[in-house]
Amino acid sequence: MAATARPRIVVLGAGFAGLRAIRILSRGGQRVLWVDGRNYHTFLPLLYQVATAGLEPQAIAYPTRSFLRRRPGVDFRLARIVGGDAGARTLLTGDGEQIAYEYLLVATGGAAADFGIPGVRAHAFNLYDVEDARALRNHALELLERAAVTPDSPARRALLTFVIVGGGPTGVETAGALAEFRRHVVPSDYPSIPPEQLRIVLVEARDAVLGTFASSLQLRARRDLEHFGIEIRLGASVARVGPEGVDLAGGEHLAAGTVVWAAGIRAADVAGRLGLPTGRSGRIRVASTLEVVDHPGVFAAGDVALVEGAEGLPQVAQVAIQGGSHAAENILRAIAGRPLESFRYRDKGAMATIGRSRAIAEIGRLRLSGPLAWWAWLLLHLVMLIGFRNRLVVLIDWAWNYVTYDRGLRAIIGPDRAAGENYASWETR
Ligand SMILES: Cc1cc2nc3c(=O)[nH]c(=O)nc-3n(C[C@H](O)[C@H](O)[C@H](O)COP(=O)(O)OP(=O)(O)OC[C@H]3O[C@@H](n4cnc5c(N)ncnc54)[C@H](O)[C@@H]3O)c2cc1C
Repeated sequence: MAATARPRIVVLGAGFAGLRAIRILSRGGQRVLWVDGRNYHTFLPLLYQVATAGLEPQAIAYPTRSFLRRRPGVDFRLARIVGGDAGARTLLTGDGEQIAYEYLLVATGGAAADFGIPGVRAHAFNLYDVEDARALRNHALELLERAAVTPDSPARRALLTFVIVGGGPTGVETAGALAEFRRHVVPSDYPSIPPEQLRIVLVEARDAVLGTFASSLQLRARRDLEHFGIEIRLGASVARVGPEGVDLAGGEHLAAGTVVWAAGIRAADVAGRLGLPTGRSGRIRVASTLEVVDHPGVFAAGDVALVEGAEGLPQVAQVAIQGGSHAAENILRAIAGRPLESFRYRDKGAMATIGRSRAIAEIGRLRLSGPLAWWAWLLLHLVMLIGFRNRLVVLIDWAWNYVTYDRGLRAIIGPDRAAGENYASWETR
């Protein structure tokens, strides 16, 4: 197939880094081709709320073309990139088309890492995509339906057991949201299921949950999780995941109908197929300017980038936003023939929520927990969401949830799993 006309700049990825880069490049008057395998930006931090019936998927997805309405220099292409030739400066789409670039920003984000543990990909749910979240929600609701008509037995208890692997923010937030579902929804919707039979186990290989926070906040989070009736297994590694649950390294078996994998991150697969140098977890190696090592004019930012001298930067939204912005500024500098500048991350703090009125936040030396941290968390996430409609929808859902204790989105809609249809980003990222 013939190569398309050469666009000057290609931005690959419509996540936090790509979105911010598009803003800067279009303001800089550049002609840009923006490519993503989906036609929307996903607000990943709220994915767990979609998975636990707190938000509808559309509330956290924002169409890329809406973002481009007032950005005439930018074109969008819906295409999954499957490879690339860094020497020829081209990308290859899943349809076999080549996209040429003079400047490239790779911002394809991360994906769940299974660390080669048997059964994880086949039997655990991960959370990297709205389809993942919807699949997990449908699965959980289906198991509750089955449990509701199954007499009390070990089989019913297994149906009602959720094992969440990974005590970072995603694991903790998912466990907390499930606990709220158990407390406020199960008694009214499933009167035949005693809520205490729904078991939530959080498995973490290290000796603390939310290990990147100050130890006082870790302890607070742990107490809050226990208050919500979540079983915490610290220092426990998963050896295998099967259709019937999880085997821990010591030999213990946790019978569970649902296993959620929130334990590791690697670069999305495409990072290793572009002909660019990669390092730890398959991430693209970039210099402090975010330019790819030995590839002038090619940049990477966000979760996919491994920055020389700053390898410990966390894979979080702020790093991606600031990195996307910086890479775009450096592309503009390169086009203007000016020297590139080094990226300096400004740490704005970190937050995690555990449940209603319970959250922790660490902003510089300020440490918050309880209701104040929770309200701060709500406000920050509302402000960060892309699109006025999405903010409004989320605000209404949260207000409804706060006042009624209800979670409104419990319809099982989506691929017919009984017919073998399924979806998971294990296969696509
Ligand atoms: C469940 C979850 C919860 C999180 N919670 C928080 C939080 O509370 N706070 C926080 O700061 N961070 C959080 N993070 C991390 C944060 O979301 C990431 O650091 C951030 O999204 C990284 O931005 P990015 O632009 O690098 O990549 P992403 O936002 O992941 O975007 C990557 C884009 O690339 C596209 N793409 C990938 N491969 C291809 C391909 N082959 N072809 C075409 N397009 C492709 C994807 O479709 C996607 O649109 C969370 C992450 C997850 C998964």
